[in-house]
Order: sequence, then C-alpha cells, then structure tokens
Amino acid sequence: MRKLYKCRVCGYVVGRKDSPDICPACGVKGKIFEEYESPISRKRRIVLELNIHSVIVHLPIAFVSSMFLISVLRIIGFINDRSVFMGMLRAIVLILPCVAIFATIAGIFDGKLRFKRINTPHLKKKLVLACFFIFVSISLFVIQYFFDLHQSTYNIVVLIYSIVLLGIATPLGLIGGRLLDSKVRG
Ligand SMILES: [Zn+2]
Repeated sequence: MRKLYKCRVCGYVVGRKDSPDICPACGVKGKIFEEYESPISRKRRIVLELNIHSVIVHLPIAFVSSMFLISVLRIIGFINDRSVFMGMLRAIVLILPCVAIFATIAGIFDGKLRFKRINTPHLKKKLVLACFFIFVSISLFVIQYFFDLHQSTYNIVVLIYSIVLLGIATPLGLIGGRLLDSKVRG
C-alpha cells in the first residue's frame, strides 16, 4: 500500500512509496511534502483502490460492442456461416444480462462504499439506467429463446438492440467518470 503525502504549499495529496521531490499540482520543489493520514480507513481505501465497479462495467460494454460488430459483419457478408453467427450471438445474449446484473450489484456496493449512500440524484439516475439496461438485455434474451425469428430479421433486431444498449451505456459511463473524480468522504 502506498503512503499518502500532502503538499504543504497547495494541499495536494499524492499516494506514493516515497515523498515526491516536486509537487505535481503547484510545481514547488524541495522538501515540501509531509506524511498525510487519510480520514478514510485503510481497509476502505484498499477496497476503493480496486475500482471493482469501474473494472466490471467493461464486461457488458465489451459484449454489446461484440454484438454490434457481429451483426454488422453478418449484414455486410463477412460472416457467411449461419451457425457460427447464431452460435456467437446465442452465447453473448445469454451472458449479457448476467454481466449487467453483476456490474450493477458492484456499482451499488461501490456507491455505498464511496458515498455512504446511494440516493443522490446522479446515483439514482445511474441505477435507473442500469435497471433499464438489464431489462432491455433480458428482453433480447426472451426474443432469442422464445420467438422463432427468421435469421435476417434476428440480425436486424440484434443490431437495433446493440445500438439502444450502447445508447443507455453512454450516459452511465459519462456520469460514472465524473463520480470517480470526486473526493471520498472520511
Ligand atoms: Zn503543491
């Protein structure tokens, strides 16, 4: 675990093994850093630094992007084998709701750990969008397994679904990115 150092000039806090020679924030050189005791407990800081939610959210994004790419490649004729196309999509459509639920649970956990409550406007908005994402991905699963769509129709459905899901994921990522920059309370 890195130690924390605080700049005596500007108050900037850095996490490093040893005291820095120059402050990355104000640029003052010399022995201006003092050891800093974070108000956040060591255990909580270790879990926060794992960035569990920020890592896991890449899974649903990767699956939706693959879904989009596979359906486009099929339309333009790059994937000729029908069973290869269906096999890949069946696997993705099955896994997608699972990783989306997993990422949402990790997000709730991360939000509670970071902000101690998850009923702030931004966190509530994220939760609503995440539930919508899960709902849409489950509806695609239902279409795939319970409706016998013609393969070309299914191709278009998957394409539209992947665009919609990417549309839901974009504001989630944008809000999430801003939240990561916020200071954590002690
Ligand atoms: Zn400084």
